[in-house]
Amino acid sequence: MDKDRDCRCCEKKVPILDRKTCPECGHVFQGNGWDGIDAHWRSKHEHIMPYEEFWQSLCAEHRQTRGK
Ligand SMILES: [Zn+2]
Ligand SMILES: [Zn+2]
Repeated sequence: MDKDRDCRCCEKKVPILDRKTCPECGHVFQGNGWDGIDAHWRSKHEHIMPYEEFWQSLCAEHRQTRGK
């Protein structure tokens, strides 16, 4: 259990909304939930941490796509 690694979105105080926002640059993802985050992260924020690590760090609330 690695509790040192907190959710990146909670850390950045990203509100939990249906529309997902990039915690690093505020980019709003159009379409369904996190669609496009992998390409976006890899091209813009890969230097902060690998995409897999970012995704793993997300808490359930930030990760889920609601509504629909
Ligand atoms: Zn979170
Ligand atoms: Zn971004």
